[in-house]
Amino acid sequence: MTTFKGKGVYGAIAVGKASVFKHREETVERIRIDDTVSERKRLARAKEIALTQLELIYQNALKEIGRSNASIFEIHKLLLEDRDYNGSIVGIIETQKVNAEYAVSVTSDNFAGMFNEMDDAYMKARAADVRDISNRLIAALFGMNLCTAGSNEPVIVCSDDLLPSETIVLDKDNTLGFITAAGSQNSHTAILARNMNIPAVIGVGELFLEMLHDGDTVAIDGFAGEVYINPDDITLARLNKKLKTEQEKKRLLAELKGKENITLDGTKVEICANIGGVEDLGAVLLNDAGGIGLFRSEFLYLRGNCYPGEEEQFAAYKRVLESMTGKRVVIRTMDIGADKKAEYMRLKDEENPAMGVRGVRLCLSRPDIFRTQLRALYRASVYGKLGIMFPMITSTSEVWRILAMCDEVKDELTVQGCAFSEDIELGIMIETPAAALISDKLAPFVDFFSVGTNDLTQFTLACDRHNPDAEEFMDAHHEAVLRLIEMSAENAHENGAWIGICGELAADLSLTETFLRMRIDEFSVAPSAVLKLREKVRSLDLSEEERIAM
Ligand code: PEP
Ligand code: MG
Repeated sequence: MTTFKGKGVYGAIAVGKASVFKHREETVERIRIDDTVSERKRLARAKEIALTQLELIYQNALKEIGRSNASIFEIHKLLLEDRDYNGSIVGIIETQKVNAEYAVSVTSDNFAGMFNEMDDAYMKARAADVRDISNRLIAALFGMNLCTAGSNEPVIVCSDDLLPSETIVLDKDNTLGFITAAGSQNSHTAILARNMNIPAVIGVGELFLEMLHDGDTVAIDGFAGEVYINPDDITLARLNKKLKTEQEKKRLLAELKGKENITLDGTKVEICANIGGVEDLGAVLLNDAGGIGLFRSEFLYLRGNCYPGEEEQFAAYKRVLESMTGKRVVIRTMDIGADKKAEYMRLKDEENPAMGVRGVRLCLSRPDIFRTQLRALYRASVYGKLGIMFPMITSTSEVWRILAMCDEVKDELTVQGCAFSEDIELGIMIETPAAALISDKLAPFVDFFSVGTNDLTQFTLACDRHNPDAEEFMDAHHEAVLRLIEMSAENAHENGAWIGICGELAADLSLTETFLRMRIDEFSVAPSAVLKLREKVRSLDLSEEERIAM
């Protein structure tokens, strides 16, 4: 058994077969090269990179898993230095006047084939090692690594990293959990794991993938942020016990279904759920959420190879509204950009995409796409109680432009004889310091605010939410963040608007009292967090002397 420590992003236990998904290797092409001297230099540089990587991995492995397990990386280093292996690559470059990638690939096939032919089991096993080191060398030549694959049976997905667009298409029935070598707790991949109830541990380090083979048994302890390759019986028994304790806790929480979200002194608050798609509705209903506080509609755009049309979107919004039987459903217009991108959109590469043309900025620059979404939303509004929310607001003029587009869409639908509700609430996200600071100016134009604490924290503290190395600075409890929320709450109420929190901080029970004292009207959290939050709210007495949680 080998143990790795990462960050648990959804507390749950899972045990199953590993399915290793790495990002795609570039296809190796045969390219004619005239300057073979330069090509040999490229090869030498790539070899140096590969050897450095192997040395680092070996040193790490020594510390984590001991000399005998780590020795495989010593073997890889020796193979990479092997005279015959290198002689073959250089020979192919020189005689055939071809690129180094191609020469490595041919050599890899030849050597792996040769090892495979051998009778000795030990030598046979070297075929995989030759392929491994050759892939490493080719990746170094390309200056890149890896891509995803799929699976047809329940597995634990083990990857270098997962993009939100890859996570959203994971088949829930076939995905027991996922483990990534990299990743940050505030990324949309982590948020999706929580919303989709997928046991997940991220940031376990690259060594995990080095040690893992397709089909190995892996176990995830999402509570402790630990993962195990080929767990022993004692570990499995311990995990099983943990699972039983958690199931019992869940059973007790379930007794809160149907109960009010009310403090001991009588303060009421709404507790709603965040979803990424219709497939999350089951968990929303199961956990007795008071509505949907955030439907991240952009995930509709990340599932396929082209923009979802008006009918497709209409069907999804209608389904959510109908399922919630009159409870409020807040659908956020697409917040594409930053880490949520699809190839077909052909968005420009940006130096700082989190602060680039994303959210409403993109919508306003692509009115055709925005109009399609607004039409689908307005048409679906007759099936329930709809709120439409706009992300990444920084100015009043953006709000005016959006409201003008909503009016145009309504006029268009009226002319076409399409029904829509007159009671749609329109709101904006407070997720930039600018929006919070001018919330007094914004509030008169909207029905509600919803605080996106994930982005509000990143922008207030100048801290990239996707950078795992900066996680210690991503302090959502920072007084600056809390003051901006408080200021927004005051300005919302002074202007007759309500205010919710839909960022991950809404589920932070250590701040529930602080938020209630700020008179936050609604929390929207992952479906699995609804009842825990209800329990917390019901335990609080706001008439007691204030305890500062900042
Ligand atoms: C937020 O920023 O807090 C938010 C809810 O939006 P997202 O996490 O999708 O950026
Ligand atoms: Mg956001």
